[in-house]
Amino acid sequence: HHELVIDSLQVRYRNTLALDGVSFATSCGNRVALVGPNGAGKSTLLKAIAGLVPRSGGTISWRRTAVKRWSREFAYLPQREEVDWSFPITVRGLVEMGRYPQTGIFGRFGDADHAAVENALQSLDLLDLQKRQIRELSGGQQQRAFLARAIAQEAHVLLLDEPFTGLDRNASRQLGDLLERLAHEGRLVVASHHDLATVPKLFDEALLLKTRPIAFGTAEEALSAKN
Ligand code: ADP
Ligand code: ADP
Repeated sequence: HHELVIDSLQVRYRNTLALDGVSFATSCGNRVALVGPNGAGKSTLLKAIAGLVPRSGGTISWRRTAVKRWSREFAYLPQREEVDWSFPITVRGLVEMGRYPQTGIFGRFGDADHAAVENALQSLDLLDLQKRQIRELSGGQQQRAFLARAIAQEAHVLLLDEPFTGLDRNASRQLGDLLERLAHEGRLVVASHHDLATVPKLFDEALLLKTRPIAFGTAEEALSAKN
């Protein structure tokens, strides 16, 4: 049973204090929403957990060890606007990238690597789409391809920046079911989410955030703390 423990986290960009005094703990099997207005520090928190921005204070630990950069345990999905969706790569190619921490970029794919890719494609229902270019897919299909990459990587923690933004109702429901399943299988899902009203339906826990933490608890507790 693995715990993510964040204690007194502070992140400062040159002139901006983006996060201050952020502490909370959660564990595998949960879906945690990071909720707050624009500029609240949601993306920064995801990047700090992923090891993509440096901490100016506090600690982040996972499995009782300090978080290292580029750990394969963490899969980070940037916000849609930060991804170059025109990049020429197939669904299968993207999912194969999930194995690079194990194989190296020019490394040889072994049986275990092929099996992990196959399993990820199948588990996200992408076998029929595997030869398609990412740029030709719908938003929901693109999200699934990125999640498949995380599964191939064997990441235990999925860090997702606004995964529901821009999805239609159907794709949104599918992604909700999928995150529930991934958490049920023992992964930890941490996602920024701007719509407080849908948090109880889509997440188990929520951190309300505005540079500093405002409330942390079950999704329902967080919702009532805001009101
Ligand atoms: P609104 O007036 O609808 O709350 P905001 O821009 O203030 O608009 O908030 C955007 C989103 O962030 C909304 O979902 C809102 O409920 C949520 N939110 C606003 N303030 C906070 C806060 N201090 N902490 C957490 N969530 C907030
Ligand atoms: P959110 O995801 O909740 O909208 P962000 O984490 O993106 O919030 O931003 C938190 C604060 O940090 C904002 O004031 C933002 O302008 C600032 N910020 C974010 N990224 C950078 C950066 N690379 N350099 C400087 N300031 C940044």
